[in-house]
Amino acid sequence: MNAEIISVGTELLMGEIVDTNSSYLADELAKIGVDLHWATKVGDHPGRLEEAIERALDRSEITITTGGLGPTSDDLTRESIAAVLGEGMEVQDDLLAHLTSQFESRGVKMPATNIKQATLIPSAKVIPNPMGTAPGWWVEKNGHVIAAMPGPPREISHMWDNEVGPRLRSLNPEIAIVTRTLKTFGITEGGLDEMLSPLFESDNPNLGIYSKQDGIHLRAIASASTQGEAQALIEPMEREIRKIAGHAIWGEDDDTPVSAALDALSEKDLTLAIAEGFTGGLLSSTVLESASASGVLAGSIVVTGGDSDRLILGLSVADPDSPQPEDASNLALAARDRLRADIGLAMTPLVSRETGDSGPVGTTHIGVATSDEVFVRSGHYPTRRLRIRERAVTHALLELARCLETGSGGHESRWG
Ligand code: AMP
Ligand code: MG
Repeated sequence: MNAEIISVGTELLMGEIVDTNSSYLADELAKIGVDLHWATKVGDHPGRLEEAIERALDRSEITITTGGLGPTSDDLTRESIAAVLGEGMEVQDDLLAHLTSQFESRGVKMPATNIKQATLIPSAKVIPNPMGTAPGWWVEKNGHVIAAMPGPPREISHMWDNEVGPRLRSLNPEIAIVTRTLKTFGITEGGLDEMLSPLFESDNPNLGIYSKQDGIHLRAIASASTQGEAQALIEPMEREIRKIAGHAIWGEDDDTPVSAALDALSEKDLTLAIAEGFTGGLLSSTVLESASASGVLAGSIVVTGGDSDRLILGLSVADPDSPQPEDASNLALAARDRLRADIGLAMTPLVSRETGDSGPVGTTHIGVATSDEVFVRSGHYPTRRLRIRERAVTHALLELARCLETGSGGHESRWG
């Protein structure tokens, strides 16, 4: 089956809103074995929107629209679908009653403009939307499917998980899809591509490579008539990837750098103390965002190079503009001992002045102090890059996980 996405909204064309819905849907379609052939963005303009829908019906089996289901006069997706199919929109009593009660429960009178959210055309069925007021439309006509979904991303994902995804999947029950994502760190996308180049020629499983904030992901997708067969197609490819690039793989599927670090800590029942420099608390806050962090994080301090470091940790970075690798090990040890944890994790300030061998500008030193050893790794984050703090946090968490798992500081990582 093939599909097309139409993202509706003038704000998408004005650069005010990034069209994250189509990338979300593209990812989900791939997981259920639907080939996405086109993705279009179109403004809230009746003529052009109808043209986009007409073209999609012409060339694609499944059309998914997002946006334009709001109550205002510029939300025209329903009207356009109705016009293209030559059907009339009719208010549905049950939908209207439900919509009215949604407003009543919030203590607001429903504006008359919302009534169109309670309409259907004869070939449409309602797609419930418990996350918002705009239900979707599921249209089946002349062998085509149109799924009209709302714009807000959390409504889309809920509606996909509970309604649209399962319905599309059931259109093609003879296909089973298995995906496997392997997450790497410390190798460039080009390097990995070169190492694994023969594998990219395979059609089934198909292998994709994606650069993400937490490293380079490799995703294999296999389709077959049963889950077991699809799984059997994936396995040799996964083995091959692990054989070639296993040293760089830190996780799979839903793993995150935080879950990798916290899993490694909780497996050994260890607590963690953090001393972080230029990330300014982001490392600690990233750890704390995880529900499984409670009881693991013993304490944390943001190293400023000022008196507070000395007061709490009993030492400070000798030269905050040009921290040395020893600073990372000293900070990790001090954090571990002063904050009474089993493991100390430290990140120095960023090198901002070129001196001797402490590393080029944009280098941070990461220290991991376990009960009997201290590891130091250096990460280089070009200062012109956005989001270097997030990258450094990822790096620190993965080095921590690796030290705990292998008892070594792992490979040398560079973020070029
Ligand atoms: P709408 O259903 O067109 O009224 O859209 C409601 C809101 O959903 C918009 O104001 C955006 O904030 C959000 N939205 C709409 N389309 C998209 C999209 N393609 N990607 C991400 N957010 C969107
Ligand atoms: Mg809109």
